[in-house]
Amino acid sequence: MKEEFNERLNTLVARKKSNSVYLINTARYQDFIKEVKEIKSKPYKDFEDYKMLASYDVLDVNGRERMIQPRNEVNPSIKFYVPLEELFGVLHTIHLLFKHANIDVMEAELKTKFCNVSKEVIKIYLTCCKTCQEKKSNT
Ligand SMILES: [Zn+2]
Repeated sequence: MKEEFNERLNTLVARKKSNSVYLINTARYQDFIKEVKEIKSKPYKDFEDYKMLASYDVLDVNGRERMIQPRNEVNPSIKFYVPLEELFGVLHTIHLLFKHANIDVMEAELKTKFCNVSKEVIKIYLTCCKTCQEKKSNT
């Protein structure tokens, strides 16, 4: 199932060809973290730097640096960016935790913890779940 998902995900990434942070691999994810940290340590920041810091922040989680959405009064909770390679694990956990959750439940649940898991990606995941596909064809 994981292979099938990643294959479809790669097709989506290839089709998009965008610089969108919604679909970034681990290598670019690490680059982003490096860049954000560099900007943060700069004594003088320019407009581009502030733009970067408005969207990305780095948080140390048990010795592992993770990219998060900057927190503020409106959004005080931590929301993580997920690299492509980890998407399957994240989706799979939520899907099974909520007993083969549908797209709406998954989206609502994922939104509370992650900031770059799109509905499109959830849809791809669901088409890869045999149990859900069978349920669908039976009703
Ligand atoms: Zn399922």
